[in-house]
This record gives sequence, structure tokens and C-alpha cells, in this order.
Amino acid sequence: MEKTLVLLKPCTLQRGLVGEVISRFEKRGLRLAGMKMMQLTDEILNEHYAHLREKPFFQILKDSMMSTPVIACCLEGIDAVNTVRAMSGATNGRNAVPGTIRGDYCMSNQQNIVHTSDSLENAAIELARFFKPEELFDYTPSNLHYLYALDEL
Ligand code: UDP
Ligand code: MG
Repeated sequence: MEKTLVLLKPCTLQRGLVGEVISRFEKRGLRLAGMKMMQLTDEILNEHYAHLREKPFFQILKDSMMSTPVIACCLEGIDAVNTVRAMSGATNGRNAVPGTIRGDYCMSNQQNIVHTSDSLENAAIELARFFKPEELFDYTPSNLHYLYALDEL
């Protein structure tokens, strides 16, 4: 099954939304394969946001991402990358559709609650960036056969 990375950003910790956001993924049926609190550094953010390094907001974004620890989560499920990405909604919370996480919890283009991997390839790269292999756990959900039909597994 696919694994994807979710980061709960400092705005989410500060606003007391950690449980609520994780709960959405749990209720959807995604399996939590790893979770930890970590303090991000300039080094890891230069890698993680390399595609944005020329943007005028790059430094403010990095400062914001280092302002408190974040919660890194690895979620697993069939088509988990696209499903989790769709749940997070458009980057700018003001454009995000209600019902998505950003569309329900934020008003900002930057303070937008979650990071979610945007492709299977990037999910693998990002999971390796944020988790050691031994920090990801393989266990079978006891309700697996009620989450998916037999011919989906
Ligand atoms: N961001 C920002 N201003 C922008 C675009 C993005 O501050 O105009 C921040 C925002 O926090 C976003 C992050 O940079 O989540 C990464 O940008 P990306 O385009 O990868 O969006 P995402 O994949 O998070 O939707
Ligand atoms: Mg992105």
C-alpha cells in the first residue's frame, strides 16, 4: 500500500488543532504508520522547500516552519498519496473548498495547517527525509477487511 507524509505545521500546534486534523485521517481509514514531534532546521527546510527557494516568501515560510516543533506523520492506505492530498485542499486556505482540511481550518496561503506529499515519488523522498526506517511501523489494522473489499487488497 502507498505511504505518504503529512506535516502538521506550527499553526496547527498553536491553534490546538492537532487532534482534530489527525482524527480526520483516522476516520477516513488511513493507517498511522509513524508519528513524531520534531524541530525543523534550516537545513531540512532548504531541502524540503527547494522548489520554492527563489520565491520572495521563502525565508518567512522557513521561519514560520521553525517557530515551534511540527508533528510528522506517515499515513498508509490504497492510493494514500492522492487521497491525503485531496483531503488537504488547495494551498491557499482562502481558495480551499469547504470540507477539505485547509478549507475548514484556515484563512491563509502560508499558515495552512498541513503539508502533504504531492506525488508517490515525492512521498518516498519526503518520508526518507523525515523518518528513519525504524520509526515507521508495519502492523495490520484489525478492521482491514471493513476498510477495503477483498478484491481491493
Ligand atoms: N506558500 C506560501 N505562499 C505561496 C505559496 C506557498 O507561503 O504563495 C507556502 C505554503 O505554506 C505552502 C508551502 O509554501 O503550503 C509549500 O508550497 P507548495 O506550492 O508546495 O504548496 P502545497 O504543496 O503545500 O500545497
Ligand atoms: Mg508542495
